[in-house]
Amino acid sequence: MTRTLALETIDKIGQEVALYGWVATVRKHGKIAFIDLRDRSGIVQTVDTSGKIKVGSEDVVKITGIVKKRPEKMINPKLNTGTVELEIKNLKIISKAAELPFPIDTDGYDINEEIRMKYRYIDIRRPRMTKNLKIRSQVTTFIRNFLTKRDFVEVETPMLTKTTPEGARDFVVPSRLQKGKFYALPQSPQQYKQLLMVAGLERYFQIVRCFRDEDPRKDRAYGEFTQLDLEMSFVEQEDILQLTEELFTQIVTAIFPDKQILQSPWPRISHKEALEKYGSDKPDLRVNKNNPDELAFSWTIDFPLFKEQSKDDFFYGAGSAKFAPSHHMFTAPHPDDIRFLDADPLKVRGLQHDLVLNGYEVGGGSIRIHRPEIQEKVFDLIGFTKEQKKQFEHMLTAFTYGVPPHGGIAPGIDRFLMAVLSEPSVREAMAFPTSSSGQTSVMDAPSEITEDQLKELGLILRK
Ligand code: ASP
Repeated sequence: MTRTLALETIDKIGQEVALYGWVATVRKHGKIAFIDLRDRSGIVQTVDTSGKIKVGSEDVVKITGIVKKRPEKMINPKLNTGTVELEIKNLKIISKAAELPFPIDTDGYDINEEIRMKYRYIDIRRPRMTKNLKIRSQVTTFIRNFLTKRDFVEVETPMLTKTTPEGARDFVVPSRLQKGKFYALPQSPQQYKQLLMVAGLERYFQIVRCFRDEDPRKDRAYGEFTQLDLEMSFVEQEDILQLTEELFTQIVTAIFPDKQILQSPWPRISHKEALEKYGSDKPDLRVNKNNPDELAFSWTIDFPLFKEQSKDDFFYGAGSAKFAPSHHMFTAPHPDDIRFLDADPLKVRGLQHDLVLNGYEVGGGSIRIHRPEIQEKVFDLIGFTKEQKKQFEHMLTAFTYGVPPHGGIAPGIDRFLMAVLSEPSVREAMAFPTSSSGQTSVMDAPSEITEDQLKELGLILRK
């Protein structure tokens, strides 16, 4: 017999069907047992009148039986299969389940997070988590369709690469073939996407993992996160803002119809005004912050191109130079302000745009520098040494071969989902996140490697 899904039973009254799934609950009333079966489509009630079936919660089973219409007063309006039930003819246990480490019929927020992560495959059975992952998939599918229809090409860029500075520490990977040398995992595909513009693609996107070794926060998972990375040629900032606005508005309409975007077009606030008026460059513009249905998108623009360097700017020399980029060092200065680059760099505005949602910075981007002499100038201002400049020589070289003006943005997928799902942490929107202490879900990493592995890599651990 071919498989019938729980939800399909409502159209199969009177028929004999075979269901496969997990036992969600068992309720006994004397000789009668109600066994709720759960599969990817939902839950359906099955009934054993023999009194002989012995089955436990979360066992994986095959149940055959006849679909019966429930009498009017037995209809369960809480289930989408509530009008029917299955009269069991046979129940076969395919795989027994041990007692779960925690309940999965609650929202789970009160359970210790380390334990949830250790048994993440069970935690995902929780309806809230299953739903979040399904919505995540709908969102990324929507993005792919939206951009592909508009001539964007999805391109994968390398994970084993050289540092791409986004203001965090790199994760490094030792090379076995070239002992003593290291790859860096990309903090973002920033340089590759710019090189793809030199390559003539004109419109690129990628739903991509980025790696940053920075201290965890609730709106930031430790280690890795996913962003929608995109870049366009022959555009102005306005084109990037409009495209992003249209994309996210359509995502909300299609996937989150209960949510209400408070202001359209989204307010655009200068960095200066944001700080003066809201005390933050990512203001929360919701009217009622307790109402989960409000979505307050806004843009923060006109950032200064540079900030004063602090000890957090270790990449740029940490105090050895005066300036560090506000966004990153590929961001173009505002054309009206290029004249201040020499005399008063802090006065120069950058063509940076930050996407803000409900007080979270959900994405950032900019129009890029495409003139090699300006890029060099910025390198000098942020205090790059000769060696550091050499690390980015390929960009300057590429720009000598015909580079279109270009720009882009990279909205964070995890962070957008956290905000739109009103989740307290980005980890609630990720399948296997790293815990706040840097421990991976389920698997025990980071972990030690063997002496042989170290030897092969030419590494000796410092005690
Ligand atoms: N690479 C930037 C980031 O990851 C985004 C961008 O400038 O497009 O924040």
